[in-house]
Amino acid sequence: MKAAIFHAPHQPLTVEELDVDQPRKGEALVRTVASGICHSDLHYIEGETTIGAPAVLGHEGAGIVEAVGPGVTYVRPGDRVIVCISSFCGACVRCLTGHPHLCEQRPRRSDDSPPRLTWRGNAVAQMGNLATYADRMLVHERNLYKVTHNVPLETAVLISCGVMTGVGAVLNTARIEVGSTVAVIGVGGVGLSAVQGARIGGARQIIAVDLHQHKLRQASELGATHTVNAAERDPVHAIRSLSDGGVDYSFEAIGLQTTMEQAFNCLRPGGLATVMGVPGPGVKLALEGRYFLSERKIQGCRMGSNRFRVDFPKLLDYYQQGLLRLDEMVSRRLSLDQINEGFRAMRAGEVARQVILYV
Ligand SMILES: [Zn+2]
Ligand SMILES: [Zn+2]
Repeated sequence: MKAAIFHAPHQPLTVEELDVDQPRKGEALVRTVASGICHSDLHYIEGETTIGAPAVLGHEGAGIVEAVGPGVTYVRPGDRVIVCISSFCGACVRCLTGHPHLCEQRPRRSDDSPPRLTWRGNAVAQMGNLATYADRMLVHERNLYKVTHNVPLETAVLISCGVMTGVGAVLNTARIEVGSTVAVIGVGGVGLSAVQGARIGGARQIIAVDLHQHKLRQASELGATHTVNAAERDPVHAIRSLSDGGVDYSFEAIGLQTTMEQAFNCLRPGGLATVMGVPGPGVKLALEGRYFLSERKIQGCRMGSNRFRVDFPKLLDYYQQGLLRLDEMVSRRLSLDQINEGFRAMRAGEVARQVILYV
């Protein structure tokens, strides 16, 4: 199989031939059709998050099942699937109380089995047990959703991570009320999805905040009612004046101290801030303590609090009804050989979502 290998931070990925093991108990081998380039992978390349090297990154993928191991019942060869990083055991307290995205015993290959992927005889780590920057994905069946909608996989792939995170933050994690006022700080792929989630959830005002004018334009096209360029105006002041004193709900998609604090400071009394961004190690917030007296709240969010086998079909329904717009979110399509260029464009803030297509 062919994959882009991560060797060390600040080094380009190299596309190499790897060996892939056969699917073992509970696993499926999937031929990758498409993989989105997600910001979380950039954190490894920038050295802000660590993973053992060599590794194959990528955690937003879709493809077709080629083979299954013993005991697999959910899929069979030929099934079209979307992967999700939120594999679940189905038996731990988090799973049994309806929070499988926080599962504490995610299914994994036992230590006495050989590695799933090897390169020149060495074990290769898989980002999130997925590794989608490869033309084959060897994964557990509980990382899979079987697609029955008539939607092309190169479009459906977007819901695998970024769209699930953004829409899920609004509809699952914050559960906004119809008629709410909403601010979204940072409108790349995840933020644009939160804008769409707010529109689908019936928000009456959606204020998009970003430093890039082209992203704000795209946010308007996808449902933002107002935009604030944080390079020109103080976003907290702008949001408070646009929303008559603060928004009901805010969503932060960057993970920086400043923007997370802005998400809290732009709330009205009783408002709720949800952090979707991935903060670097050691990042801390300084919040005005007296704001808690007016019941302002701030909370985390992991992968849109998904129950992906329940949520993915909803998102595909929304897409088919024209409510969730996915095609407009794809800035460009690349081949695996162009992956380093893809990360360059992401770093430069030039793109919303890029999709790698495998032939
Ligand atoms: Zn992601
Ligand atoms: Zn569990």
